[in-house]
Amino acid sequence: MNDVIYLDHNATTPVAREVFEAMVPWLTGSFGNPSSVYRLGREAAAALDVARGQVAALAGCRHEEIVFTSCGTESINTAIQAALAMDPDRRHIITSAVEHSATMKACEHLARRGYEVTWLGVDSLGRLDPGELKAAIRSDTALVSLLWANNETGVLFPVGEIASITQAARVPLHIDAVQAFGKLPLDLGTLGVQFMSFSGHKIYAPKGVGALYASHRVRFSPMLRGSQEEERRGGTQNVASIVGFGCAAALAAERLNTGDVAPLRDRFEMSLLERLSGVRINGDRTNRLPNTTNLSFEDVESEGALILLDEKGVCCSAGSACSSASVNPSHVLKAMGLDNQQARSSLRFSIGHSTTAREIERAIEAVVQAVSKMRALRPKGSPVLAA
Ligand code: PLP
Repeated sequence: MNDVIYLDHNATTPVAREVFEAMVPWLTGSFGNPSSVYRLGREAAAALDVARGQVAALAGCRHEEIVFTSCGTESINTAIQAALAMDPDRRHIITSAVEHSATMKACEHLARRGYEVTWLGVDSLGRLDPGELKAAIRSDTALVSLLWANNETGVLFPVGEIASITQAARVPLHIDAVQAFGKLPLDLGTLGVQFMSFSGHKIYAPKGVGALYASHRVRFSPMLRGSQEEERRGGTQNVASIVGFGCAAALAAERLNTGDVAPLRDRFEMSLLERLSGVRINGDRTNRLPNTTNLSFEDVESEGALILLDEKGVCCSAGSACSSASVNPSHVLKAMGLDNQQARSSLRFSIGHSTTAREIERAIEAVVQAVSKMRALRPKGSPVLAA
């Protein structure tokens, strides 16, 4: 594992040592059900309270506005259905063409169930035009659901401006903050957002734990009915993972302003631009997550590059989703106007807190070698993949 240079932190992060250590007691001796009245149970309930406070502190909201879930996807689905339940007569949803599949699939499903969905586009830098959002809102708009930080490019949507627009129009707003949480400062107390989704495994907690912010001002309707989480999310809580999530949130709060990852990302990008021709940075470089870069390499097929990089111990991801039959170009890059070929030649690298300058130098070398090798193996200008 030590030889691996892990540059895929937007996919998932390793569990931090402090997080693991905080979780262990809740997987061993302190195994009580937080709903039980005896001491073992009360201790587990108290641990949930601490974790709720830690997540709420990072989000800048009240403790009771945090509902623990099983993942970001569950939070997103819960938020969407809770917003729609607020006024069943409203049948119009606004989202964007570059959302994570959790939002896209939920909205596509709702479209098949009779809802009308407006998919806002983005410009060539992946930016959303708030004017277009304003113009799209109607009297029957039930929900606006948008990303804060794009998982593929890191590009940020202007959440403050978006919230001002939806507040003025009195339309519920859900923000998918799964990638931004813990990477950018957040003060939900002043933002004017009704729902926000978070996930543990993007901030050094384990997979399978998430949280949903539901403003105390909204009437909340659960997706999983049951008595836990104040009847907002049924199911016995995953105590150990929630404790881990709380610990990870506290660590993220300490690291928020350290600025440790952006210089490494910038060094990585600049070196590749200097050393290779035909490299393009995808997305708005000024409003981006500090840890993410999405690059297209002319005449390189990203799936092949991934394999070569994997052989060199570098983990990153392709701007495409593989299905058994084909490599689909990324919907995010396509929405930004990249053609199939450009989208199929893109790679995402996402840096983490444990990434070192030495690893970045080795990764630069590996990418230069992989790209040069792939270019040497194929005639210049030939299609990256058959259309
Ligand atoms: N939203 C965004 C922007 C993401 O990047 C992800 C995960 O990649 C999710 C939602 C889903 O989170 P989870 O994996 O916890 O379901």
